[in-house]
Amino acid sequence: MKLKSMFLHGFKSFARPTRLNFADGITVIVGPNGGGKSNIVDAVRWVFGEQSMKQLRADEKSDVIFAGSASQPAAQSAYVELVFENENETISVARQLTADGKNTYFLNGQPARLKDIREKFEGTGIGVEFYSIVGQGQIERIISSSPEELRVLLEEAADIHVYKERKKEALEN
Ligand code: ATP
Ligand code: MG
Repeated sequence: MKLKSMFLHGFKSFARPTRLNFADGITVIVGPNGGGKSNIVDAVRWVFGEQSMKQLRADEKSDVIFAGSASQPAAQSAYVELVFENENETISVARQLTADGKNTYFLNGQPARLKDIREKFEGTGIGVEFYSIVGQGQIERIISSSPEELRVLLEEAADIHVYKERKKEALEN
């Protein structure tokens, strides 16, 4: 599963509609301090339901909406879409938050539950808690994690985690 492109509109510093296309291989994003590089990573976390304001480097939920600048008024909503591709399908996931607090997730253009999105990406390592986004300080955290925490990480990488979750759900019902 590869991230092929993303589209941001009204998310943090991305006031104007912006599409980023990622070619095969490694993409490096460079730019001046405060230019919005980390905001791109925040956008990926946000689409996968990141709830932690600390991770999103924001104080409040609405802080992800473009706040306005000298030349542009504040946005009425924040929208981010991610397009992933694997051998046999293209998957689009998106999230929108409006200034009045309405939050919607989308899977392939249709409103969806965050649970549906997470299930779709289970076992791929793509998501909020797993290893696809290695943030600052995370390597250190992995090195110092408990055996239990390490096991969860390894199981996700080995694609076992999804079966454990299903077993847990089955036992609960
Ligand atoms: P560095 O090289 O220092 O790590 P960076 O390229 O990662 O910088 P970011 O942290 O992504 O930069 O961007 C920070 C910028 O985004 C700041 O200028 C901040 O004002 C702006 N920003 C964050 N949230 C909003 C918002 N809601 N509305 C407008 N601008 C915002
Ligand atoms: Mg940064």
